[in-house]
Amino acid sequence: MPELPEVEVVKLFLEQKLLHKTITKLEILTPKSFVGNPEFIEGQKIIKFSRIGKQLSIYLSNKLILLVHLKMTGQLIYDGYVLGHPTKDAFSSLPSKSTRLIFTFDDKSKLYFNDQRKFGWIKLFNQAELVEAQSNLGLDIFNPDFSPKYIFDQLSKSRRPIKIILLDQHYFAGIGNIYANDALFLSGIHPKTPSNKITLKQAKLIHKYLIEIMRQSVLAGGSTARDNKYIRPDGTSGQNQFFFRTYERKGEPCLKCGTKIEYLKLGGRGTFFCPQCQKL
Ligand SMILES: [Zn+2]
Repeated sequence: MPELPEVEVVKLFLEQKLLHKTITKLEILTPKSFVGNPEFIEGQKIIKFSRIGKQLSIYLSNKLILLVHLKMTGQLIYDGYVLGHPTKDAFSSLPSKSTRLIFTFDDKSKLYFNDQRKFGWIKLFNQAELVEAQSNLGLDIFNPDFSPKYIFDQLSKSRRPIKIILLDQHYFAGIGNIYANDALFLSGIHPKTPSNKITLKQAKLIHKYLIEIMRQSVLAGGSTARDNKYIRPDGTSGQNQFFFRTYERKGEPCLKCGTKIEYLKLGGRGTFFCPQCQKL
């Protein structure tokens, strides 16, 4: 599944290509993939893009907002570029059998929303509904209010392992599995540490490394893990996987001390750590 840096890359790309374009038509091929009345979209100009966690918002000139969630297999295709989940047929003729929605713009260009497994969606909201829909999300890492104190306060609410809480969207929006693993490694914190045992000093480290890793990943065009769930707009893999510190490195030597990276499952998610550098 695309994580925060990948969705940020998608946002930056669409901003470049679609800002100030007017949507002239929306074709709904799969009703499940779109929630809202398409009549409220047609004739509207795109005035802004924003993102919280893995959710992308497209602001329209009539003050309505399209909220996009790609989920497991969603992809946006525009101008020969594929954003999100890669599939073999991504570059075949469009629309394909996975095409769910087609947006047409005033310059006749088209944005395709493809989704093999149909878990992704685009929903139309007004401002109040959007606030309500996102009220259960923690702060986004790139939000200016995302601070060491915020991390500390959120973590102090739970005794569950820190790795599980970092991934919980109610506490923090958009920290994916790759980034939680590596931020804990760089901070020298064992993934099973009870959240409320984390000190403010440790929260400062988590903050520093999370932001560092996320920025690096956005610059590298996102990560393509072994599940191949994400490719960059030009169809090539993201390059960030070459910076993974622990993620998918089970049995390989720790980059700090050479000890073999260990693996365990926490809350059903693959967890990688150095037993030497990250003591419980
Ligand atoms: Zn180590």
